[in-house]
Amino acid sequence: MSTTRSHQTIEMDIDNFGRYRAMNGSNASYAPRDVTREFGEDYGSRIFAGNVIQRRLAPNVLDKLERTIHFGTKLDPEIADEVAAAMKDWAIENGCTHYCHWFQPLTGATAEKHDSFLSFDGRGGVIAEFTGESLVRGEPDASSFPTGNIRDTFEARGYTAWDPTSPAFITINGGEATLCIPTVFVSWTGESLDQKTPLLRSIEALNTHAMRILKSFGSADGIHRVTSTLGCEQEYFLVDEDAWSERPDLMLCGRTLLGADSPKGHQLDDHYFGSIPHRVLSFMGDVEERLYLLGIPAKTRHNEVAPAQFELAPLFESTNLACDHQMLTMSVLKNVAREHGMVCLIHEKPFAGVNGSGKHNNWSLSTDSGKNLLSPKSNLQFLSFVTAVVRAIDLHADMLRATVANAANDLRLGANEAPPAIISIFAGHLLQFMIDELIAGKTIQKAEGSFMELGSESLPKVERHAGDRNRTSPFAFTGNKFEFRAVGSQASVAWPNTVLNTIIAESLDHIATRIEEAVEDGMDDAARNAAIMTILQDVMKTHSRVVFNGDNYSDEWKQEAERRGLPNLRSTPDALPAMETDKAKALFDAYNVLSDSELEARVEVLYESYVTVCEIEARTQMMMLNTMVLPAVARYQSEVGESVAASNAAGVESAAMKSRLEELVGLTASLYGSIQELDAFLSAEFDCVKQRAVDIRDTLLPAMERARTSCDALEGLVPADLWPLPSYTELLFGGLA
Ligand code: ADP
Ligand code: MG
Repeated sequence: MSTTRSHQTIEMDIDNFGRYRAMNGSNASYAPRDVTREFGEDYGSRIFAGNVIQRRLAPNVLDKLERTIHFGTKLDPEIADEVAAAMKDWAIENGCTHYCHWFQPLTGATAEKHDSFLSFDGRGGVIAEFTGESLVRGEPDASSFPTGNIRDTFEARGYTAWDPTSPAFITINGGEATLCIPTVFVSWTGESLDQKTPLLRSIEALNTHAMRILKSFGSADGIHRVTSTLGCEQEYFLVDEDAWSERPDLMLCGRTLLGADSPKGHQLDDHYFGSIPHRVLSFMGDVEERLYLLGIPAKTRHNEVAPAQFELAPLFESTNLACDHQMLTMSVLKNVAREHGMVCLIHEKPFAGVNGSGKHNNWSLSTDSGKNLLSPKSNLQFLSFVTAVVRAIDLHADMLRATVANAANDLRLGANEAPPAIISIFAGHLLQFMIDELIAGKTIQKAEGSFMELGSESLPKVERHAGDRNRTSPFAFTGNKFEFRAVGSQASVAWPNTVLNTIIAESLDHIATRIEEAVEDGMDDAARNAAIMTILQDVMKTHSRVVFNGDNYSDEWKQEAERRGLPNLRSTPDALPAMETDKAKALFDAYNVLSDSELEARVEVLYESYVTVCEIEARTQMMMLNTMVLPAVARYQSEVGESVAASNAAGVESAAMKSRLEELVGLTASLYGSIQELDAFLSAEFDCVKQRAVDIRDTLLPAMERARTSCDALEGLVPADLWPLPSYTELLFGGLA
């Protein structure tokens, strides 16, 4: 960076502004969006579902496909050719030349390998072809995806298999339209190498045991399936692309590894729910348009707590679909941001000392007839489901914690902005009342919903929710769903929901079994209810210790949680062992979600990812310190040194410059010491990834923190025009408005 940084910044802003305007057409960004279609028209026009398939498939084929989609019946292989042909015609009409099997390997990202429809026609020409076999099965090379040692590198064969329950869709990126077919990804031996396979298995387990509960209450008539529903609130940051491209840490790691605080952050609370900057709103509009065409129901948008932080929330959907839609939403956010000259940072903690980003995972249970089974009712059926959730979270808090453990989320959990690592349930007023009544053995009554007085006759009466909010709780009952708030913003939600579904399936199984044993044919209602009450009371008494309605950020809660025996697993190396216990293995095995070797592989990948991410960050930090920060500091030191020498030569004592020089020399020495520590750590050989993870947490991360402290102090001293990196002020406040 030259010494004219401030000039460059001005040019950069002008340039950027011009580019932004140019991109949206002259002044177009300030004009209302041209939406002439009817509300709802074109919704989902880029997915192979709804009207699209009704118009294109023969009635008997459509019927079979829809039975698979809605009731989970096994797909009839006979229909694959016909579905493939219709899909191909539709894709080609929409500009596609290629299709891909779209899957979610254990990298946490999505993967796609494109194939064109091109085929020889046998007469020297070509035709477009897409067979049922190509739709149903793909064969990407699996050797370069993480397998957690489930396979050797030379055993490369992997298969993708069509998931008909999530509709194929067309993406348009860089002007290229591609037909994407959601698939699972398994090894040649049939072991899962992806996020979707265990999720689908967990949904099956949940369905089986939730249906048993419904049957035992005589309410299964006309209901084919119970599935979990999911709505994820996505938080993210936006930064100007030019500023981003000057920060190797943002480019390589998605977060800043250096950077002094900006004098202004969110102290004034003036950003949260504030009016959305016009550049951002224009971006959000484009994002929503893409999602709308993909049939992804984006509903809510707003400014979040931190400067430059925003949120998007969709309407909820069944979990498998919602998970796919969540992955697509993240990719749309990233792609559209670049088109607007910005970069969307989905990292959990892009800026130290500034609120991080999460992804509230709103989870509930629904019948295929659309009935929410967690909608409060003063009956035993509702209580059975709630009791199952309480039991599951208490028994498996450690595993739920492990599902959100990674290097990035470690920077956020427990930092008084996100829930702590202790997993507990916030029940709220209504549910707590019901739990208390149940434990006391009283007949359950619903606490009356009450109305709020707003103090003016002219205002409508607002019905109060069943409970207040508790932002600090990791797992909160919010009216008719549970909100798991510890999930990180860039996480694939498939894994946390796989575990959530599985642990709740187990508790539903437990309760259903006990009810089935206790209830005898010919029992009258009173005796039957009394028997069920006794079971629920017993389970609730054992597990209600996990319910906590107070401030989860307080130190008292940490002590109280310890007294209650709740685990507090602070870091990833603390949390991951919960997935290696006999308890975890038995659970996944019993519900056919993951075999022992599949589970082991997953845990291995999580450890490897933790180690790799942290090492990349440390190397990036070292590179920036060596090649950007130290040279800038040296330049300033020599300037100050010259100034001191000049004063001395003139016979005047410059105490200020002398002490500045000493300060610089002192901080530089500390910084250099930390760099050497990083270097030594990274050069050392290791052979056990688990031990390496622990060493990283205990040795590398503290050294990076010390390096950062020295560097950030230097940033406060070195002239802005010499400092080689855009500052927090520039990143968080420059360019978005
Ligand atoms: P809040 O702001 O109180 O958290 P919202 O109603 O805004 O509540 O919902 C937040 C998210 O929860 C949305 O994505 C929404 O779709 C989702 N959600 C609402 N009801 C359910 C449900 N029954 N199952 C799953 N997710 C739900
Ligand atoms: Mg919420």
